[in-house]
Amino acid sequence: MFFFYLFTGIAWAAGSPQWILLNKAPHLTLEGWASQTQFHPFFDEKSGRILLERKGLPPMVLLLDTPYALQGEKFLALPQPPFRQGNKILLSLESAERLFLPSVPKEEGLVLEKNFQDVKGQENTCRLDRPVRRVFLDPGHGGEDFGTKQGNVSEKDVVLSFARLAADELRRRGFVVSFSRTRDVFLPLEVRSKLAEKWKADLFISLHANSSGHATAHGTETYILSQDATDAEARKLALIENSIVQDQGAKQSAVQDILWDMEQTSFLQDSAYLASYIQGAIVENAHTLLLKKKVAGDWKNRGVRQAPFFVLNRAAMPAVLVELGYLSNSRDRKLLTEKYFQESLAKALAEGVKKYRDACREIQ
Ligand SMILES: [Zn+2]
Repeated sequence: MFFFYLFTGIAWAAGSPQWILLNKAPHLTLEGWASQTQFHPFFDEKSGRILLERKGLPPMVLLLDTPYALQGEKFLALPQPPFRQGNKILLSLESAERLFLPSVPKEEGLVLEKNFQDVKGQENTCRLDRPVRRVFLDPGHGGEDFGTKQGNVSEKDVVLSFARLAADELRRRGFVVSFSRTRDVFLPLEVRSKLAEKWKADLFISLHANSSGHATAHGTETYILSQDATDAEARKLALIENSIVQDQGAKQSAVQDILWDMEQTSFLQDSAYLASYIQGAIVENAHTLLLKKKVAGDWKNRGVRQAPFFVLNRAAMPAVLVELGYLSNSRDRKLLTEKYFQESLAKALAEGVKKYRDACREIQ
């Protein structure tokens, strides 16, 4: 569908130096965006920030490898981030349309999810510029917050005992591990990522177990932060802005906050890679285990998903939230409380993190 197409406003012509074909999808070079849209581009090498200006229109700000743009004071999610290839800065046609043609409908999370599922086949799997060594485990809930509770099985207990086993396995693979909690205590959400940051964690892994009104729902899913959270943040900021419109200084600082948030989202891609390694390892392991133990049925791969989890929102590092399985499902619940199953899944999680670390090493 991408070949020789005339989109409203942006013409795609094969062979033009403004276009590069990657995986059969057309991409615009920075010069291409400029000449086709009359926006003048300024690229700051040091920060990776791209400023696009056009008389009479609000300026646009983009960051390399970050799938968000700031249009005036409005946040915009892009299907793909701008990225560098050789000496060129490229943006997919899809993202260019989103950026330049306000009439294009808002992207659904589904496509992003699919992209994240495909990361295994890609070459560059890590963008973190430091070695991955310090892993911060966050067993969800605790104290008066039980999480999901089914009979005498509570999420807070399952994830704490799992976290201990996962820590052992991670240490065995050369990682240094710390926890948000090692006891049955209540811990506010915002404290969890702050503790990780204070400890200078390289990775943040929040551990949970799920529940559903449908007793048949089962399996593992891994979450990364969603754009919606960022949109919500932008909306909140917009509200603040409206109330302080008279105060130019305060207005500018609100814009600064948005830019700062954009840099936070630069971890999103690494989070997606980490999530796919962990998700893949856990599901594969659980499958094998069920087969070996002759337990009927499969372990459902519910995929890597995006959701606006507060606990991931402020983590300035790759961060994922693993929903190990469903306590509302009788088979999942039984398995998740068994030691051998927990041990095996903990090993799988550690293997997933190790694979991510190794992928990062190859690139560095
Ligand atoms: Zn939970």
